[in-house]
Amino acid sequence: MTNKLIYFVGNWKMFGDFSSYKIINRINKFSVKTKKRLNKKIIFCIPSTLIHFFNKKINSKYISLGAQNCHQQEGYGAFTGSLSASMLKKAGSKYIILGHSENRLEGETDTIIKKKIISALKQKLNIIYCIGETLKEKKSKKTFKVLKKQIRKVLEKKFDDSKIILAYEPVWSIGTNKILNSKDLKNTINFIKKELNIVFKNKKNLKILYGGSVNEKNITLFSKIHEIDGFLIGGASQSSKKFIDIIKNYYK
Ligand code: PEP
Repeated sequence: MTNKLIYFVGNWKMFGDFSSYKIINRINKFSVKTKKRLNKKIIFCIPSTLIHFFNKKINSKYISLGAQNCHQQEGYGAFTGSLSASMLKKAGSKYIILGHSENRLEGETDTIIKKKIISALKQKLNIIYCIGETLKEKKSKKTFKVLKKQIRKVLEKKFDDSKIILAYEPVWSIGTNKILNSKDLKNTINFIKKELNIVFKNKKNLKILYGGSVNEKNITLFSKIHEIDGFLIGGASQSSKKFIDIIKNYYK
């Protein structure tokens, strides 16, 4: 069993209401019970409407809450329907997912994502920055080119590396039950590490998560890839049983 700290991050997307805190409550109990045995960090990125309420209900040092996106504008502004990083921070977010492919597909560019990261860093939020290639890009062997661009156009040496976690999420793997083979995944993670070392001038050692159809069965495969520091889990994080089984099976 690995001794290194492993991240298990839930991305609830557009899911959950006030009663859904019970899901996280069950995971919290498991987290507390296994705190000495399993060296893990659990984060739930939930809809912004639930952050304040869940923080009050759960109030645990074994689970952190995060948001799933923010507007690039700092503070307040005339942006109907949007939330700034400072508003999310005040609601109780400690983490924030930025650059998720579902938002990139809606038109979010690297330039906008960079502005979002800058505004979230000013609020001292921990960033989970998502990168990944589409199926078309994979088929035309552009994966590394795409990842390089997503890293170099968005991240900068001056960013506080202790506040940035990278999540490699092949777009074609999200919600599809299709996963990368171990060899390709290792190679890609190593490529990302190399790129990060270039951006951060070798001084930094950012955590890299994998995301894309992670479940309680395939986690056994992923647990053998020691280059990975943790997982960003979408669909399976909406069930306490599945999420707990993912953690249990990772350490088996
Ligand atoms: C995600 O949305 O970040 C994700 C990885 O989803 P899923 O686990 O459902 O593929």
